[in-house]
This record gives sequence, C-alpha cells and structure tokens, in this order.
Amino acid sequence: MGVWVARVPDGAFVYANRAFERIMGMGPEPTAVAGAYAPAYGIFDREGALYREDQMPFVRAMAARERVVVDDIVVHRRDGRRVYVRAFAEPLFDGDTLTHVAIAFVDITDEVSVEHQLARVLAQTPLVLFAFDRNGLITLSEGRGLERMGLRPKQLVGQNVFGLYRDRPEFTEHQRRALAGESFTVIAPVGTGIFETTFMPQRDAHGTVTGVIGISADVTERTEMQQRLVEVERLAAMGSLAAMVAHEINNPLTYVLGNLEVLAARVDNLGDSLGPVDKTRALIADVREGAERVRRIVGDLKGFSQQNDAAEPTDVVAVIERAILLAEAELHGRARLSRDYRPVPRVVGNESRLGQVFVNLLVNAAQAIPEDAGAEDEITISVAEREGSVVVEIRDTGDGIPEDVRRRIFEPFFTTKHGSGSGLGLSVSRQIVERFGGELSAESESGRGSVFRVRLPIASSAAPPRAPAPRATAKRLQILIVDDDVRVARALEGMLAHEHDVEIETDARRARDRLLEGARYDAILCDVMMPGFSGIDLHRALASGAPEQAAKLVFVTGGAFTPAARAYLDSVANACLEKPFDARQLADLLRTL
Ligand code: ADP
Repeated sequence: MGVWVARVPDGAFVYANRAFERIMGMGPEPTAVAGAYAPAYGIFDREGALYREDQMPFVRAMAARERVVVDDIVVHRRDGRRVYVRAFAEPLFDGDTLTHVAIAFVDITDEVSVEHQLARVLAQTPLVLFAFDRNGLITLSEGRGLERMGLRPKQLVGQNVFGLYRDRPEFTEHQRRALAGESFTVIAPVGTGIFETTFMPQRDAHGTVTGVIGISADVTERTEMQQRLVEVERLAAMGSLAAMVAHEINNPLTYVLGNLEVLAARVDNLGDSLGPVDKTRALIADVREGAERVRRIVGDLKGFSQQNDAAEPTDVVAVIERAILLAEAELHGRARLSRDYRPVPRVVGNESRLGQVFVNLLVNAAQAIPEDAGAEDEITISVAEREGSVVVEIRDTGDGIPEDVRRRIFEPFFTTKHGSGSGLGLSVSRQIVERFGGELSAESESGRGSVFRVRLPIASSAAPPRAPAPRATAKRLQILIVDDDVRVARALEGMLAHEHDVEIETDARRARDRLLEGARYDAILCDVMMPGFSGIDLHRALASGAPEQAAKLVFVTGGAFTPAARAYLDSVANACLEKPFDARQLADLLRTL
C-alpha cells in the first residue's frame, strides 16, 4: 500500500513510503502542490481526461474533514503503464486543527481488468444479471439480455423494483418471495422476449436477508421451439382426423356437386315452364358456390394427412405461374404483381401440393391489401437460389401482421377473417412445405406489409419425363360405374349420360362376375373403398382374368387410404380420380383412356 502525506492547506509534500514509487512508477515530486498534482504525477480519470484538481482525494478530504474513498483514478506512468488506483484519504488533526492529509492507495488494476472482462462477457451473453437490496433498490443491472427487455445496462440502477413493476403484480410477488428468503426460478415474458429468472436471496453473517441477486436467461427461442413441437404433434393428430373427415364429406359432396351440374343443365333446357328461370339459376349458383367452398376446405384438410402425392423434381416457377392464374380473382384490382425470377434448379416438391401453398400465400397477400388501395400497392414474387435451397418470397404492401397475431398465424383454424377465412391456409401450407424438407416463415411489421418466405431443397436428380398429353377423342364410350353408394354412382351417371352409355353396378362382386364372363367396357369407374370387396380386389381379379379390362379401370378415391391401398395404387398404372371432381376433370380423364 502506497502512503503519501501532504500539508494542509497548500498540499506541499511531507512524506512518501517506498510502495509509493512502486505503484506510481516515480518518486514523490517535492515541488508539486495542490492544484498541480495531475500533470506532475500523470493522474487521469477513467475516461482519459486529466483528473480534476478539485476532485483530488487530498482536496476532498480537506473539505469533508473525514475519510474519503476514491477509486476512479488511473495513473499514466512514465514507463507507459496504466495503473488503476483506489485511494483512501484520511484527514489528520492536531487537536481541532486539520494539519495534514494522509493518502493510502492500492493498485486495483487486476480487479478492474476482471471487472472489464466480466462486463464484456455479460455484454455478449443473452443473460441479465441484477441485484436489489432489502428495500428493493436496484444495485446491479447488466447483460445483453437487457436489449430484449428494452433496457440499457445500468439504466435501472438506483430505481426501486417495487415501483418499477407496479403494473406486473406477479413480479412484485416474486420480489417479495425472494426477500422473504426463498430461492426459485420462474419463466415470464418481459419486453419482446421470454426469460427464465432465478432469484437468490443474499444473507449477512446473522442469516438476515440483505438483498437478492438474480439471473435471467433469454429463453425466447427455446420456448418458441417447444411451442412449435406441441403444434406439430397437434397437426399430426389432426392429420388422421382430417383424412377421415375428408373421406366422409367427399362422398356426399360428389353427388351434391354432380347433381347440381345436371340440374343446372336441365333448368337451362326447361325454359320458362318451371317459373322464373333466372331465379332458379341464381339459387343453384348459390348452392354450388357453397358446395365449392366446402370442397376447398376439405381439399385443405386433406393437405394435413400424410398420404399425399409423392415428392418429385418440380419447376417452382411454373407452379407459381399456375398459382397466379388460380388466384386471379383475388389478385385482380387489388395490387400490381411484380416478378423477380432468377433461374433456379428444380426443387423437391409436388406440383399440386406446392400449387396449394402458393395459391394460399398469394390469396392472403391480396386479402391483406384493401380493395380500394392506391396504385402503389404491390405484391412482389421473387425466386432465387440461396445456400443450396430455392427461396421464394411473396411480399405484399398490405396491412402487415401485428406481433400477437403473427405468433398464431400457423395454427390450424386461426383466422382474423371472420366469416370468410378457414384459418387453414397457412397451417396446411407449412405442413406441406416441411414435408418436402423445406421451411415456411413469415415476417411483418404492422402497417408495412408482410413477407412470406418458402425455402425448398433442391431436387438431386434430373426431372422425370412428364405424362404424355391426352389424346383427343369425342367417341361415345361404354362406361361401367362401380360404387356401393348409389347416390355417388347416379351423380357420376348424370355427368356422363349425355355423352356416353352408362351402367351402374353397386355390388363389386357382381361387377367382377360380369366382367369375367365377357362383359366389355371402354372405362370402368370404380370406387376404391367398398366394404367386403374393394376396388383393389376388383382390379386384382381383372388383372388375372380379364387384363384388357383391368387396364380400363379408373380408381375413384375419397382421399383416404390404408397404407396397403396406397402402395397398391402406386404400383399400378391406372388413373385415380379424387372426389369430389367436376365434369371437366372427368371428361379430361376419359379422353386419356
Ligand atoms: P385465412 O386466410 O383463412 O384466415 P390462413 O391460415 O391462410 O387462414 O391465415 C391466417 C391468418 O394470418 C389470416 O387470418 C391473417 O390474419 C394472417 N395473414 C396471413 N397472411 C397475411 C398477409 N400477407 N398479411 C397480413 N396478414 C396475413
């Protein structure tokens, strides 16, 4: 410990010990007096300015007439070293008269360097280190975690925790518990993050609590990940439910839509004999619109189930262009569409599933822009290769998504479009994209539009040859419909009867017998899932007994299969028609036979 004594009031040098020289890097300067210490001894503050003479320990102790501690002195030694110093200035009295000030000082360079390192570490770790005393007065608040709480290091020091969190009663409760002597850990949102905080009461030698030290770790990412996992599990459960529901709904929907088409055509032919035709047409149009909507929802639901078309190398730009056509009705008049396509390789995907994703994203983007929006509103689609993936961004200048909504947009059935949205679009889309090994994410700032980003892995192999283009024939065909649900069969017949000769068979075994006995058709539309004897059983029987007829069989499916059925359908070349379908799809398919 260096010791140096000077006379009051001028500060003239009286005494120094040997440690003085060791710490200061020079001996005492007998000519230096108060008011000129800093330049003589190289005394600076921590900011690098010459130390203020009126703040010198000698001057302060003289004025206070009691001991003063100063620990922000930095000595710039003549040999170039910087030494941090803590000084204790002690006034010395002769009777009542203050005659001298003795200064004892120590080298705290190591201590300060540890402090600096600690501060550096704390500034980089997503932690918050805090302390408050028994009255709630904050004495420490450090760490990079503060950023997410919207705070700067030290900003809260000197404030009172109880006053600070007056409107968070649960926080006040934590602080009281800790001051009552309990150690515990809690997880709670603070600012824009989620923090796991451990409270540790501090005690004096008698065991009395003197204050609390706490550590908060930023667990925002971890918590969000856990929530995603729960969601994924929920989606998996929904997948099997969705497949079942889709299957059940698709049968009635097939004949509702099919019969509507037939009815609409009949009304046209009937003319005025049935009352005002326009009104009847309007009614049918409404019913059709409603049924179409059910069909779309069921279609979305099917996206949840795992039994979807297999992944194949897919031209993502072609898929996007088709999605733009499909979303045309929504896009029209709302916003300008601009494209920024870089050449990209094919991706792992599937045309119809990825089409579903981009239609959803485009429709959402369009709906985020008010209908009477100005000409500057824009939807930008960009496609580029980035770090081994193809990234598609759909950016809109619409309303944006507030943070509390953004957290939930990927939940099934979450929608802010009450009455018109199903809330399935994004959850299904994410499910589809993730199944192909990709990612779907969203960013938005309220009021400034949103960007949805789809990342898809690049397909490794070259593209497989595409299916040959359909042959055009307008021939009248002999068609057999095999379906145990007579209403579905009749609806199909209704769609076909005006162009073809149609027979219905509701018992698949009888159909087999007739075919094996020599009955011949140009097409056999056969339901897959029938109790007792399925469409697959029929195909098997024909494959051995009447192979030429087996080739004419078209599987009609409701979208749900057992894994064995799926495998069988994948193994044969026969076409599949997914319920519900419309007359056009059916006609297109028949043309390929
Ligand atoms: P839906 O569109 O049927 O509501 P989605 O799952 O597609 O269901 O979307 C869920 C919610 O996400 C929407 O209701 C909307 O609040 C929000 N959202 C999706 N895309 C956007 C977008 N581009 N801009 C603003 N909000 C969006």
